[in-house]
Amino acid sequence: MPQLYAQKNAFILLNGVRAFSGFPYLMTCIVRSFYHFILLPKHWSRETCLEMARLQVLRNRLDTWLVFNKEYIIKHPAYGPPEKVAAPPACTIFLADRLMPAREITVDEDLKQRKAQLNKVIENVTEQGGYVTGDLNKGGRRPSPKEVRKIKGLQPDRVPKGLKRCPECGYYRGECLDNNPVHKGLLMKVYCRCQNDNLCARCGRLLAEFKLNANFYEAKTGSILHVPGFCCFRHKCPPS
Ligand SMILES: [Zn+2]
Ligand SMILES: [Zn+2]
Repeated sequence: MPQLYAQKNAFILLNGVRAFSGFPYLMTCIVRSFYHFILLPKHWSRETCLEMARLQVLRNRLDTWLVFNKEYIIKHPAYGPPEKVAAPPACTIFLADRLMPAREITVDEDLKQRKAQLNKVIENVTEQGGYVTGDLNKGGRRPSPKEVRKIKGLQPDRVPKGLKRCPECGYYRGECLDNNPVHKGLLMKVYCRCQNDNLCARCGRLLAEFKLNANFYEAKTGSILHVPGFCCFRHKCPPS
């Protein structure tokens, strides 16, 4: 089989960013510099690809880029309107075929070859080793003195001030200071289960028990736990 996409041509520089050259595709941010790729058929129109990106982000609620070609790159933030950008984000860890695409994609010969090329890239990166972590700061930030005064300390039931129990799911939500020694004093956003909106683009079910790249409060241990984006890969669509 002729190798249309030799490995040396797997990348192209787009405005200073080394990007995978097998367009068109979607890139979804799993955690910082770790992206999931969905290759789209070359014969799909720009509108079809845009619609696919829109559907994907609406369900996954993870920042997604449509890299249609080297001139047309659209960022679809998890929330908010899409915008044209000059380059896709810099990526160091590549993965494919784990998040289900919103629409079924028929694999033709061209797509097969780009997939093989992407798999080679994934293989090379995996061989280089290393490991992925979620956001070690759990998305926390330094609070202002005013914020500290307002939410420092615990409520009578030992739950950090700033958190409220959700009447629907029974989990806590809000913003509070973290007591964990590693993150002590950082202001953390905490989500209850009802605020989990990361859905599988195909079956529409939740990708994980709690919101991705976000925190939840575990009352049993009194800790704020972080759910890194890559927890979504545990999801399997139920057999149809
Ligand atoms: Zn809730
Ligand atoms: Zn699914």
